[in-house]
Amino acid sequence: MSGSEVVIVGGGVTGLSAGWWLARSGVKVTVIDKGIVGWEASGRNGGGASHYQSPLFDEEHRLWPQMDELLGYPTEHQRERIIIAMTERQWEQYRFVAARHHRLGHPVDLLDSKQVQEAVPLAGEKSFGGVHYRFGGHANPQRTVQAYAWALQDLGGTIVQHCAVTGFDTAGGKVTGVRTANETHGCDSLVIAAGPQTDRLTAQLGVEIPLAAARAEMIITEPAPMMKIGGVDGHKLYGRQTMRGNLAYGGGPHEWVDIEEGGPVARPSTPLMRNLASRLAELLPKAAHLNVIRSWAGVIENTPDGRPIIDRLPGSDNVVVATMSGVGFGLSPASGHAIRDLVIDGVCSFADIGILGLSRFADLPADWRQERGWLPIT
Ligand SMILES: Cc1cc2nc3c(=O)[nH]c(=O)nc-3n(C[C@H](O)[C@H](O)[C@H](O)COP(=O)(O)OP(=O)(O)OC[C@H]3O[C@@H](n4cnc5c(N)ncnc54)[C@H](O)[C@@H]3O)c2cc1C
Repeated sequence: MSGSEVVIVGGGVTGLSAGWWLARSGVKVTVIDKGIVGWEASGRNGGGASHYQSPLFDEEHRLWPQMDELLGYPTEHQRERIIIAMTERQWEQYRFVAARHHRLGHPVDLLDSKQVQEAVPLAGEKSFGGVHYRFGGHANPQRTVQAYAWALQDLGGTIVQHCAVTGFDTAGGKVTGVRTANETHGCDSLVIAAGPQTDRLTAQLGVEIPLAAARAEMIITEPAPMMKIGGVDGHKLYGRQTMRGNLAYGGGPHEWVDIEEGGPVARPSTPLMRNLASRLAELLPKAAHLNVIRSWAGVIENTPDGRPIIDRLPGSDNVVVATMSGVGFGLSPASGHAIRDLVIDGVCSFADIGILGLSRFADLPADWRQERGWLPIT
């Protein structure tokens, strides 16, 4: 049996960031993934990093501009975002949100249609206006996953790939071993950060956590001329301009799915790809002539209230659980820090993360998925 102080199940951005934070504190860490690190949602997402509704936001905002330097590898992080209103109703909603940001002290500017065109050269004349967030930003998901993984290894951490965790050994209220097909890894502490499969693993330790999985798609176009601010959202789309100029965009409708044994199957579909492409052409009409060169899908973990779960697992003294409910990429620098704190100190040092706790679901009815219609189409 091999051994580590902390074993982390899941090599997405959450597990890798947690591993990196722990390794920075001198802890011997092993991250185990059933596939390749970042192969699931963490390497397939929109790259948005502006989660102002989260208790982790201040830390997210503080850390992102430093991440390249801290990790020692590029994440391609870019600051700021612009949201364009394509209907009068959206314009009303965005002004309401902007007023709330003002009250919270987040720097935002309202833009009229002409200012939108100046700030976003690919936008057209038809917008109702926009909001310029002078905070938050976006980064390259693949680069970021790689940066966390390399930085973790530089600090002596171990990554084990193509190795599914199948169960746990327990003794005296603690997890003492993490079982895989090949071997059992001994551990002093365990972190479960397995995205939409987190519930399957916690169920083995007797804790049901409420998660529903949804498939989402992204498209990417040929390169467009570079814009000063590449994080442009709106028209129910989220996305970013890559460093090469390509427009990488995703958006609803998301489709509820079952996760098969072995992991999510996430193939893009032609109808949704067409729908995304036509909305992108309306949002950024001066890019409407660009061909879509690739598309992909990913599976998002969703909790009933849309907020992440980061908590110590009830009933086990040495287990932390983290699943991020669709906002895990942007929050990853901060979620990793919070997980490190829970593992080492038992409490998050920089934010009150009580609302991310599992106890909030104590009164959730067993049929919550049916109630909401969050069920896969059969
Ligand atoms: C299309 C799309 C767009 C998105 N856009 C954004 C965005 O713009 N901004 C944002 O912040 N978030 C976005 N998200 C959400 C974000 O990608 C996720 O919240 C985040 O990646 C979750 O990271 P994670 O590490 O917690 O989970 P995952 O990335 O799902 O990683 C979990 C890992 O656990 C491994 N695993 C599972 N079971 C086992 C097992 N039994 N044994 C070993 N390993 C196991 C898996 O192989 C996987 O690698 C988007 C998601 C998608 C799909």
